[in-house]
Amino acid sequence: MIIDVMTLFPEMCEVFLSESIIGRARKKGILTIQCHQIRDFGLGRHKRVDDTPYGGGKGMLMLAEPIYKCFENICNIRKTKPLIIYMSPKGKTFNQKIAKDLSHYENIAVLCGHYEGIDQRIIEEIVDLEISIGDYVLTGGEIPGLVLIDAVSRLVPGVLSDSICFEEESHYKDLLEYPQYTKPNIWRGKSVPAVLLSGHHANIEKWKKEQSLNETIKRRPDIIMNIEKNNFQI
Ligand code: SAM
Repeated sequence: MIIDVMTLFPEMCEVFLSESIIGRARKKGILTIQCHQIRDFGLGRHKRVDDTPYGGGKGMLMLAEPIYKCFENICNIRKTKPLIIYMSPKGKTFNQKIAKDLSHYENIAVLCGHYEGIDQRIIEEIVDLEISIGDYVLTGGEIPGLVLIDAVSRLVPGVLSDSICFEEESHYKDLLEYPQYTKPNIWRGKSVPAVLLSGHHANIEKWKKEQSLNETIKRRPDIIMNIEKNNFQI
């Protein structure tokens, strides 16, 4: 999968994207991630990327033209128009289902706003999808963009060692994950549930399913209500 990031802070993004699982997947060539500096396409000698908003109001807005030029450059490199996702507090709230859908794209590009946001006309011109990571406002779209890239990347085949790593996790099949335990089997007087030490695979699977359902009912009854509403099979 190819992911392009349009940002005024590529170094901030690179720090995160070069580490751990995502960093390794990039080294192996499973993921191609390139951060593009919007300022390289800034206007005039000073590479201007922002200006005051029409109609008044505090703060600065990112100009449409440098973003458009950055977008054009990406389209030239990729020889196609990637799916353009603008990270915005006004967007659709991000979830595992959206992550799963996006992981099937060959090429996405994430646009990170900053300051007071970006000129509406560039959104109308190039953006396919606006995504929010929650009902709060951050200073920039870099952290939301990294959240999206992280969640999507780990669903791309080969990024994790086995798809079972995410298929049993919370939200993948709607329900939350069952509680997990590692060694030692007794820690400060607390024992691991006996069934997990039994070696009886059918019983272990049954226990995991029951626990997963219990966790979801206890912590997120809203998920259960939605499953019922949508007639999903548990
Ligand atoms: N003026 C905008 C508004 O009221 O909707 C907020 C601008 S915010 C200070 C600057 C940038 O941060 C946005 O352009 C967006 O890219 C990013 N951002 C802030 N909060 C976000 C959120 N919850 N989800 C996704 N992106 C967010």
